[in-house]
Amino acid sequence: MTVEKAIYLKPKKEVSILRRHPWVFSGAIRAIEGAVQAGDLVAVHANKGRLLGYGHYSPGASIAVRMLTFNDEEIIDQDWWNSKVRSAVDMRKQLGLMGVAGNSICRLIHAEGDGASGLIVDYYDRVAVIQTHSAGMREALDSIQEALIHSLGSELVGIYNKSAKLLRKLKIAAEDGWIYGAAPDDWKPLEYGGAFEIDILLGQKTGFFVDQRENRALLGRLSKGKSVLNVFSYTGGFSVAALLGGATKVDSLDSSSRALELAQINAEANGFGKDAHGCIEADAMEYLKSGVTGYDIVVLDPPAFAKSVSARHKAVQGYKRINSRALESMKPGSLLFTFSCSQAVDDRLFTHTVISAAIQAEREVQILHRLHQPPDHPVSAFHPEGSYLKGLVIRVN
Ligand code: SAH
Repeated sequence: MTVEKAIYLKPKKEVSILRRHPWVFSGAIRAIEGAVQAGDLVAVHANKGRLLGYGHYSPGASIAVRMLTFNDEEIIDQDWWNSKVRSAVDMRKQLGLMGVAGNSICRLIHAEGDGASGLIVDYYDRVAVIQTHSAGMREALDSIQEALIHSLGSELVGIYNKSAKLLRKLKIAAEDGWIYGAAPDDWKPLEYGGAFEIDILLGQKTGFFVDQRENRALLGRLSKGKSVLNVFSYTGGFSVAALLGGATKVDSLDSSSRALELAQINAEANGFGKDAHGCIEADAMEYLKSGVTGYDIVVLDPPAFAKSVSARHKAVQGYKRINSRALESMKPGSLLFTFSCSQAVDDRLFTHTVISAAIQAEREVQILHRLHQPPDHPVSAFHPEGSYLKGLVIRVN
């Protein structure tokens, strides 16, 4: 493929790209050829000229190029996009997450994990929600839209672009909005049979935390006859799973009244009234101080405490504090589902943090399950940073 615009790396900086890691950091660039604009497709060369592949250029960002291909033969045209999206859709079907009864919510494109650094697409019953995290993906929006329509056919009736907030952070002007169709009248996103009202326009991320599906299902399997406190509940994903699994009482706790309103709507949509599902609008830390002795299971799924490696130390202290607070008053034999979605806190560090929280709380604990993100959030073998969600199920003795 001839791409006029090219960047040349400093000596030895090609090593990670040869290992197919998709990020070129700005400090690795020696020279830029051609009038390169934000979002352009550029050819990336090693110091001495060897062509390494092609990627999207973002001037001023610390990740200056997000590689799309490591093959000098590949042409990034509509066919390339069609086959990228087709392969992502095929994988979700292979996993039983699309085109089956009971499940119509999944992540369709998971950035680097699907070879599309800078692009997220979530799928909610015939509606795709796109988040572009780079100028290059914004430029590619028309091709992405066409590829989704091409690959999904009648399984797609609406596409919403929800990128404005992310792009404005990169100083790129953008508006959110439907770019194709709209949600159908009989829209009914389902996760393992549970129905969810998803606020695409105003909700967090694309509207729902798709990445907790399998962990919610595990909670469902352990909930029969149990009382559950779902801390950081958002719109009640874990709460609905617990109720469907036979929990006797579930309380959703969040600081957002809007999230709790939806949690209540979601509980009711699945047949559970206020006697079975309660809402607690509170600060999690403050509430946990008052004790959680009444529950058989507690879920802690806080927002990312560490958004970068530099914030890691403070984040670890936050995880330790919140976990020890919960553990202090949990009753003997109860279960704690505890999570971190901070990329900068890895499995080992998270486990150590929870163990030190247990030591601080003077509780003896057993680790029953080690949890992760589900397979529709794949991790590229060449980009281990993609593994961000980790969790533990702990029995408190
Ligand atoms: N478990 C949820 C996702 C959690 S997202 C699910 O399965 O869908 C994190 C949630 O934490 C958000 O809803 C946010 O409103 C809430 N939150 C953030 N800080 C909080 C705090 N200090 N106290 C209580 N809730 C908080």
